[in-house]
Amino acid sequence: PGIAVLLESAEAERRVAATPETVRKLIALGARVAVERGAGERAGIADGDYEQAGATVADRAGVLAGADIVLAVQAPEPATLAGMAPGGWVVAAFDPVRRRETVAGYAAAGLEALAMDWMPRITRAQSMDILSSQSNLAGYKAVLEAASAYGRAFPMMMTAAGTIPAARAFVMGVGVAGLQAIATARRLGAQVSATDVRSATRDQIQSLGAKPIFVEGVAGIEGEGTGGYAGETSEEYRRAQAELVAGHIAKQDIVITTALIPGRPAPRLVTDAQIATMRPGSVIVDLAVEAGGNVEGAVAGEVVRRHGVTIVGHRNMPSLLAADASALFARNLYNFLAAFWDKDAGRPVLDAEIGDAIRLTKDGQVVNPRLSQ
Ligand code: NAD
Repeated sequence: PGIAVLLESAEAERRVAATPETVRKLIALGARVAVERGAGERAGIADGDYEQAGATVADRAGVLAGADIVLAVQAPEPATLAGMAPGGWVVAAFDPVRRRETVAGYAAAGLEALAMDWMPRITRAQSMDILSSQSNLAGYKAVLEAASAYGRAFPMMMTAAGTIPAARAFVMGVGVAGLQAIATARRLGAQVSATDVRSATRDQIQSLGAKPIFVEGVAGIEGEGTGGYAGETSEEYRRAQAELVAGHIAKQDIVITTALIPGRPAPRLVTDAQIATMRPGSVIVDLAVEAGGNVEGAVAGEVVRRHGVTIVGHRNMPSLLAADASALFARNLYNFLAAFWDKDAGRPVLDAEIGDAIRLTKDGQVVNPRLSQ
């Protein structure tokens, strides 16, 4: 089949969905690969690098002409995909709940939209999991952004001129991003604590050398929840957690929030009143800002100050590490296509468990049950 790799059109998107490494591997599977001119530039990959890997480089119309599979980081608007083969696949992050109209447009265009962000959290799909690969980098970068916005040092320093105390960092939401945030803040020398609604994270927090901050005596979410995800918690739990956090947050210099609930707005974890109790100069990074935000007053795409506290709301944190983020994203896509590659058909053929989970549109219809809710 013909595979097209697009130049991303979303604002401030620096990533690219294929690298020379994955282009080589896709060609080895038997695909032809065409890369849109300039697609890798912001991730440090030149057009010539793709050509050396065996791809052709052309403009948008050239790469789309007859393409059977389009690879992108963020799914483009379907109107920009004219020329693809009928029934062609678009493999990308779709953010399907928030972009329902775009998904409907894919159905109308007769394309098959495959949402890599809806990959099931099952063991055999781990190597295809873009949420994990990108969240891990986001957690790391969130701590670096916090450190650079903070007017003090993270580690304790004993110098001839006196001692600087270690920064206290608090990570709220200990999924993939939160775990990496804990590890990164520890490496920088902060004193780290963390909380989550899933009790399974308590041991993970401790094993990274951080202090777990947990509501005692009120049931949170035992085990891993559905597919390892958090659901919404009870009113009682929310109240107890809010009280505990209120006391703890007043003593923190750095707060990193990462809490998401799939398909719903992000839970509100930090209120304006709590921010007012923090020491001026403290920094909060809200990694959930694009999903509605964990922090009151956080603004997507902006750095704001409230009560002397800096609240960082950068969008698309993984894009700030475009080279590594692209390398991992591209491998996720390659691993997906390769896992389902059918030698006889000469193209990937999905099975039901993964296909039904990620397929949004087919034969002119929106087919994913999660979108009919
Ligand atoms: P996520 O991005 O959906 O959410 C981040 C964290 O926020 C989660 O740990 C969640 O429990 C937490 N959270 C939600 N509401 C909260 C609240 N009110 N207060 C505090 N914390 C709250 O999560 P994720 O990073 O995608 O990972 C979710 C789980 O899936 C983890 O257990 C992870 O290990 C697992 N996982 C499994 C696989 C796999 O097996 N293929 C792959 C990736 C992740």
